[in-house]
Formats: sequence, C-alpha cells, structure tokens
Amino acid sequence: MIVKSIDALRETLERCDREGLKVLIEGGKTLAGMGPALPRADVSIATTGLNKMLAHESADLTCSAQSGMRVAHLNEALAKHGQFVPIDVPLRKKATIGGSLAAGWPGPRRHFYGRARDFVIGSQVCLADGTLASAGGMVVKNVSGYNMDKLYIGSFGTLAVFTHLNFKTLPIPKKRRALIAPLPEATRPRAIAQIASMAVVPAAAFCVEGFGKNVDGSDDIDGRVLLYFEGTEELLERATLDARSALGKAGVPETTIIDTGASESFDRTLDACIANKRGRSITYRLFGLPGTVEERAVRLRDACNRHELFTDVLFDVMNGDVFVRASERDATRFSEKIATCHAELRELEPRCAIVAGDSAARASFEPWGAVPPGIEKMRALKARFDPHGTLNPGRFIGGI
Ligand SMILES: Cc1cc2nc3c(=O)[nH]c(=O)nc-3n(C[C@H](O)[C@H](O)[C@H](O)COP(=O)(O)OP(=O)(O)OC[C@H]3O[C@@H](n4cnc5c(N)ncnc54)[C@H](O)[C@@H]3O)c2cc1C
Repeated sequence: MIVKSIDALRETLERCDREGLKVLIEGGKTLAGMGPALPRADVSIATTGLNKMLAHESADLTCSAQSGMRVAHLNEALAKHGQFVPIDVPLRKKATIGGSLAAGWPGPRRHFYGRARDFVIGSQVCLADGTLASAGGMVVKNVSGYNMDKLYIGSFGTLAVFTHLNFKTLPIPKKRRALIAPLPEATRPRAIAQIASMAVVPAAAFCVEGFGKNVDGSDDIDGRVLLYFEGTEELLERATLDARSALGKAGVPETTIIDTGASESFDRTLDACIANKRGRSITYRLFGLPGTVEERAVRLRDACNRHELFTDVLFDVMNGDVFVRASERDATRFSEKIATCHAELRELEPRCAIVAGDSAARASFEPWGAVPPGIEKMRALKARFDPHGTLNPGRFIGGI
C-alpha cells in the first residue's frame, strides 16, 4: 500500500506490530537488488505518497522534505533558489530521499562534499510500534546527546521508517564539466597516480571497463577514464589544463570535454553501478582505500574471468569503491558459473557485497559478505527498537 499521510503510516505500523505481521518498506525500489529479499512480508508499505517539500529556508541554507520525495525532485525544487543537496545515488529520478539515506549509499562526490548523511541535520521516523520520534532540527548546529539520525542511516529500514528529513543545502556550482579519455589497462596505474595528485581535485573520477553505452566514451580499447569537475569557469579551465597534463604524462594523448550534459554523464555512470542484465548478471561492490582500488578491481575481475564470466568494471579513483558486474549471455550458463565464482570471490574478498542482479542467484548467496565484529551490538539494537521483528526482517547484514 502507498501511504499518503503520517497518520496512515503510524496506524498501519502499529497494527502490524500488534498482530505480528512483517512489513516490507519500499521507496523507489532502486536498491531492491541489495541484500536478500525478505523471507516473509505480509504487508508492503510504499513511502512514495509522502512526497512533499515541507520547508526551504533558502537564506539559512536548510530544507525539510518528506521521505518519499524523489532525490531528483528535491534538487529540482532547491534549484529554483540556486541550491542543492549532494545525494549521489543511482537512478535519482526514482530513488527517494528516505530510501537513499536508509541504504546509506556512499556516493562518488563524498571526498569533495561529504556524504549525504553529513547533510542531514534532523529527521522524524516512525518506529515499529507506530511511535513518532524526532532528532535534530532545522538549524545546522543543534545536536546534543546522541545523534539518533545517524543510527537509522544505513540501517536499511530495519530500525525505523523515515517520515521526513531535514538537510543543510549548498549553492549550486556555477559550471560542470566532464572529461573522458580512452585508458588502456597498461596506462592505468600511472594515470590514477597522476589524477590523485592533481592540484584541482575532481568532484568525481572513475575508471571504467565495459558497460557499453551505460557509461559515456568509447569502449573500443580496454577502458576509459571519466573525470567530473564542478566549480567556477576559472577553476574548470585550470582543472582542464591540469587534467590534460596529468593524463598526458601518463601516456593518454586525447581527452574529450563535455560541458552540455556533464551532469547527465555523471548520472549515467552512477546508474551503471546497479545496471542489471535481466536474470544473467550480478554486481559486486567492494569498499577499500583509494590506494588499492585498481588492484582490488583487477583481482575481482580476473576471478570472474577465470570462471568464464563476462565482466564490466567501474571504480572510483577518489574514494576506492569498486563495482564489478559478472554476466553471461545465457541465464542457465550464468547460474551454473556464478555459484562457483561467488564462492571464490568471497574467499578473496569476504566483505564484497552484492548490490544488484539476478534474484535467484542472490537468494542462494549471502549478499552482504562477512559479518562485522559489531554484529551483536547491532542485533541488540534491532531487538530494542523492533522487538517483534516487524520492520524489514532479514533485510540487513547477519539476518537483522
Ligand atoms: C541493527 C543496527 C544497529 C546499528 N547500530 C549502529 C550504531 O550503534 N552506531 C552507528 O553509528 N550506526 C549503527 N547502525 C547503522 C549502521 O552501522 C550504518 O549503516 C553503518 O554505520 C554505515 O553507515 P554509513 O552511513 O556510514 O554508511 P557508509 O559507510 O556510507 O556505507 C553504507 C553502506 O554499506 C552497507 N553496510 C552498512 N553496514 C555494513 C556492514 N556492517 N557490513 C557491510 N556492509 C554494510 C550498507 O548497506 C550501505 O549500503 C546500525 C544499523 C543497524 C541495522
């Protein structure tokens, strides 16, 4: 059911909790491929009916919006006053702000602006028993005691349902520019080192192998690099000179400049992180230090290739995130090969998580990877917040 009011949400949750019904919480469903499907869901609650902007104090650089508002709609509304919130998630026209924060998706501009969670200054949630709980407020400096917002962020709706979120906002950058260049694998380590030491820091930098038309640039050679800059005209001119010189030193002769459509190019790269070949692909994500990003990407890719799976690889040079999509042309062959491949990937990198892909394969694997050392504390929190296991039971790591 789509809830259209906070009262309807409260009443539904209170009833389900009392009657022992299990509730699936849905936003834009863009990250439905992350984590396992719920072993049991009696009621599904979609928050997309809670989609209003509640306040925008443009002079104070703050805003408040209901959790079912789409990320793109939030930023369109803020753009009327020259502002935005840097929430970098795939499929932002569909993704809701509540779902994005509940998933804690850490975006590629986080080294530049901070993570979406750093922009949350307040929130209201509905707990499993229907109680409303608020944290923070509408001013930037307002936390005393525990900052409860941060507990819900990244908990995948297993502790509470966001009803609204308050953010601090930023002025929109004057210009955006993407630079794309072919980047053969042999040239990549030098190019990465050059990018990391550039005087003008890119807002995002990706190396991409494959993904075809999902990501701009020709994929004829073995890969490409995409640098994305935001700032003033002068800064971008300086950044372009810097980037061309840095890539030139690494042996990359030519870069293409994209000004019109730069942010669309950035969005397409983000969307590729969860782009799915129906029934015959799985995408893994692995966090780590930027210094080891290429090595980890190659390790995962080579392991998939050893099992004769096709791969598309995308990694974030500035933050160290790796995305590797393993696929086959045929769904039956895919399911045969991925089972053994998955076991090997987990041996190599126990923390690599599945973020998108074939639901049958996901159902037979543990999608989150190794449980973290704090798992018992997480379980204790779940038991305290949601003693009847009403909210998204089994969705999060360790079966929480
Ligand atoms: C039951 C429960 C208890 C929690 N208790 C606390 C707490 O006491 N203190 C606190 O600060 N936070 C707590 N959290 C929130 C959780 O730890 C956060 O998701 C985590 O801190 C990552 O948040 P982040 O926003 O920094 O995410 P990021 O570092 O930006 O990354 C979040 C992403 O990583 C994934 N992820 C999150 N945690 C893990 C994990 N352990 N292993 C693998 N992948 C993971 C998520 O799916 C998400 O996509 C709890 C969550 C749950 C469900």
